[in-house]
Amino acid sequence: MPERLVVIGGDAAGMTAASQARRLRGAQDLQIVAVERGSFTSYSACGIPYWIGGVVTGPDALVARTPEVFERDYAITVRLGTEATVIDLDRREVLVRATADGAEDRLGFDSLVIATGASPVRLRVPGAEVTGIYGVQTLDDGVAVRAAVAAGARRAVVIGGGYIGVEMAEAMVQQCLKVTLVEQAPEPMATLDPDMGRLVREAMTGMGIQVRSGERVVGFDTADGRVTGVRTDQGTVPADLVVLGIGVRPNTALAAAAGLPLGVAGALRVDVRGQVLGTPGVWAAGDCVESFDLVSRRPVHVPLGTHANKQGRVVGVNVGGGYATFPGVVRTAASKVCDIEIARTGLLERDARDAGLRYVTATVASTTRAGYFPGAKPITTKLIAEKRTGRLLGAQIVGQEGAAKRIDALAVALWNSMTVEEMTGLDLSYAPPFAPVWDPILIAARKTAEAVEADMVTHPGRH
Ligand SMILES: Cc1cc2nc3c(=O)[nH]c(=O)nc-3n(C[C@H](O)[C@H](O)[C@H](O)COP(=O)(O)OP(=O)(O)OC[C@H]3O[C@@H](n4cnc5c(N)ncnc54)[C@H](O)[C@@H]3O)c2cc1C
Repeated sequence: MPERLVVIGGDAAGMTAASQARRLRGAQDLQIVAVERGSFTSYSACGIPYWIGGVVTGPDALVARTPEVFERDYAITVRLGTEATVIDLDRREVLVRATADGAEDRLGFDSLVIATGASPVRLRVPGAEVTGIYGVQTLDDGVAVRAAVAAGARRAVVIGGGYIGVEMAEAMVQQCLKVTLVEQAPEPMATLDPDMGRLVREAMTGMGIQVRSGERVVGFDTADGRVTGVRTDQGTVPADLVVLGIGVRPNTALAAAAGLPLGVAGALRVDVRGQVLGTPGVWAAGDCVESFDLVSRRPVHVPLGTHANKQGRVVGVNVGGGYATFPGVVRTAASKVCDIEIARTGLLERDARDAGLRYVTATVASTTRAGYFPGAKPITTKLIAEKRTGRLLGAQIVGQEGAAKRIDALAVALWNSMTVEEMTGLDLSYAPPFAPVWDPILIAARKTAEAVEADMVTHPGRH
């Protein structure tokens, strides 16, 4: 009898783990069954805003592999419309239920991968349960939002100005809806410092998106079971359609009920190989697990596809009998709203303060190409470096075409614990169509190194 691997959750982390395990162990040796409660497997949630906006087609184009392809090419069985409802660690079984007819079944396992992802946070305010209010996490959610737009929605309110919120605001603009974004924090993009978030707000306002930051949603106006408006502590915004972008919570209720350990934000605690702490044979990856922040040296919950794929691969290698580890994250992320690109890596100022670190910052405004070259666009780069040592702690970029991917060079510097002084000598490429002779990264490194130096002169010995 072959061993059996059961995977709960059929998207990025789960199917990467399953595929990787299959590469290392043949079907005679390892049977693999994945259960997915939704209607799609192995899909790109990251592509949903671009599908809703009409930039890419969907939903089929967003699916990397169908259940038929998994069965034929990988000997992996994917059961769609099948929800895991109980993990029984003593019997080493998962109880599953068909979402269509409620039929139940038990799947025994030798190894289990929990890859249940995360779900959008719902608002607990009056009217929050009516039709027309959507979280956006799965392709099924995308189908629902597209249907609402097609049904004639004219006014969209996006609640939450994180990266999903601003990407969905762009999608609604592309669908020619009147768009309002409501954000509780003083500025949108709370994954940036407020001074950088302000640049995003100004750019969005310039695009015709009404940004109501510093406003808290207190309820919804409704008629005939449908949303008609969003009430904030400062007024009411009419709405035919509301999109929630106020963050996600790990889907770990199932794991918690089985007694598995939870950490930051209720995410599962795993070791560097992806095994759930203290639970041999039970693995977890993706948005449902916590990660280790390599800069602050603290556990964090960073639900991103880039981590889900890597963690899934690590778990798959280990389930397949190999050895792989996931070292941690530096929280690199990029996003865009219309022609504004937004990127960050490492710590924000508040993260540095929370970690007890003292720091200096420098912000430089520059251009993405030589100033005289056609298409040169503005780019603002902010660096944060530790006082005295000058170690890079974090970086943020807001700019236009060519801005966001510069964050990757900064992420590599951060990953390798470089100081801003060392970064001033980095051998970065230069040609007028791609950068000014001093790339914005080099100017920002030099300005930050000067700030470190100036701080030592101003406050000698007070560090
Ligand atoms: C709109 C949007 C845009 C994004 N853009 C980016 C981006 O640009 N870059 C980036 O890095 N990341 C991005 N992300 C995040 C990225 O999509 C996620 O980090 C990634 O999908 C996580 O993969 P996962 O497999 O851990 O979880 P998920 O993709 O959430 O998959 C988990 C699956 O488990 C299923 N499931 C849950 N519970 C059960 C159960 N009990 N039984 C059966 N099935 C279950 C769910 O239906 C789901 O399909 C974006 C996310 C969204 C929503």
